[in-house]
Amino acid sequence: MADALNPATRPTWNIDRDSCQVGNIGINRIVDLENIPFAADLIYPDSTPEIMEKIAGRLDKIHFGETSSDLYLSFHSYLIRTANHTILVDLCCGNDKHRPTRPHWHQRSGPFLDNLAEAGVAPDEVDIVMCTHLHADHVGWNTKLENGTWVPTFPNARYLFAEKEYNYWQALHDANPPEPVMYGSFEDSVLPVISSGQAEFVAGDHNVGSGVFLEPAYGHTPGNVMIHAEDNGRHAILCGDAIHHPVQLIHPEWSTNFCSDQSESRATRLALLANCAGTSTMLLPAHFQSPEYGTIEKDGDGYHLVR
Ligand SMILES: [Zn+2]
Repeated sequence: MADALNPATRPTWNIDRDSCQVGNIGINRIVDLENIPFAADLIYPDSTPEIMEKIAGRLDKIHFGETSSDLYLSFHSYLIRTANHTILVDLCCGNDKHRPTRPHWHQRSGPFLDNLAEAGVAPDEVDIVMCTHLHADHVGWNTKLENGTWVPTFPNARYLFAEKEYNYWQALHDANPPEPVMYGSFEDSVLPVISSGQAEFVAGDHNVGSGVFLEPAYGHTPGNVMIHAEDNGRHAILCGDAIHHPVQLIHPEWSTNFCSDQSESRATRLALLANCAGTSTMLLPAHFQSPEYGTIEKDGDGYHLVR
């Protein structure tokens, strides 16, 4: 793991290309949705309008809507290209999904696959799909609607699921709850991949190869993982929802209302940020607005990000 903040080994985000280079590994951001407002207190139980007002001034305006309590999130995948693999990580919200209680995700017809094509990749060229966890906003593009049936979007891909994460959601689904599991996304965006035979269950520390490997990051969900890309002394961590929004750089102790275990999530995030601080490791979260991707520096009781 790269451990010194050495400019020569520090990946930087290319804003024009919405991508970065980690040694010989290329990483592109593929957008599904951006500038989606969420009320701060919907995400963070510890937030108050007064605290938000105080900390918003320390962060870029791209992360906020009209007020400091109006947080903006991006929903994007990362496309990882190694010498051997074309990988998509975190599959966002998807098109045509029935999510009436989440209006921004409901019955969409967004240009995600066009955005992927713009990065030079057709669906049949993707050979690995991975989700850091199985929340509805990380599995959506696993499947697409074809003649009224949900089918895998990427016909030649192996879909790698962390076994612990999959087992948790499958048990909830098998309990036949009155409400569909995760707004229905387990049924429309995960189970069709199992039926097609494309799913592969892996350990939380699975090594994909060519510098790409998983690391357990439990707490946001029971089997949540982060994905590392490391090559030629360069290093990036696709940390999913271990950190949701830059307010958690200032308040790294804040877990979200969406975390299944808030104290485990807190411990995971504190360790991640402490390990990254002062190193040349680039952090690529699942929901930070563009182009807030970079390295991490200690800043008082919290941290700040260096683009
Ligand atoms: Zn998420």
